[in-house]
Amino acid sequence: MSRISPLNWPVLRQLRGADPFARGEHTESTRTQEMEGRIAEADRVVKSVCPYCAVGCGQRVYVKDEKVIQIEGDPDSPHSRGRLCPKGAASEQLVNAPNRLTDILYRAPKSKEWVKLDRETALEMVVDRFMEARANGWQDVDEKGRPVRRTMGIAGLGGAAMDNEENYLIKKLWTASGAVQIENQARI
Ligand code: SF4
Repeated sequence: MSRISPLNWPVLRQLRGADPFARGEHTESTRTQEMEGRIAEADRVVKSVCPYCAVGCGQRVYVKDEKVIQIEGDPDSPHSRGRLCPKGAASEQLVNAPNRLTDILYRAPKSKEWVKLDRETALEMVVDRFMEARANGWQDVDEKGRPVRRTMGIAGLGGAAMDNEENYLIKKLWTASGAVQIENQARI
């Protein structure tokens, strides 16, 4: 049928087809029908979880040439069922942001310069400081002589980007270390 046939008049197409209320293909232009989503070019799809908040919506990460090209909601996720809020839907911009820092940077006390650290060195430095602060703030007894065996030198403040499993493990770490000042932003 010619594209300029009267039968191609949208109302007629709509009434003749399986879309009488014009909510489907009969109202789409040829250009729209020829368009493809960018996910059609992906080499593979990787399932993931949105990193932004503790809702933990399921995501599908579309990869082409080992680069993330799009992130969308995962319909298989039992609680988010394919949906992402605007922040989660913009996760691709987090991954591919040109200003994103991908190195560990350290600025020594009184220095004006940042230097790059490898991961092992950075972790060792964190552990050294943690242990030192823990020891410096350690109390065997309180001011009345009652046994407390705690440290006041370290405190834990969690963020709502962490999920239940991470919070469970972190709380265990703090408590096993003797910390009593443990809080989470999501309680505020
Ligand atoms: S930021 Fe939005 S998409 Fe991401 S987990 Fe939270 S609610 Fe879901």
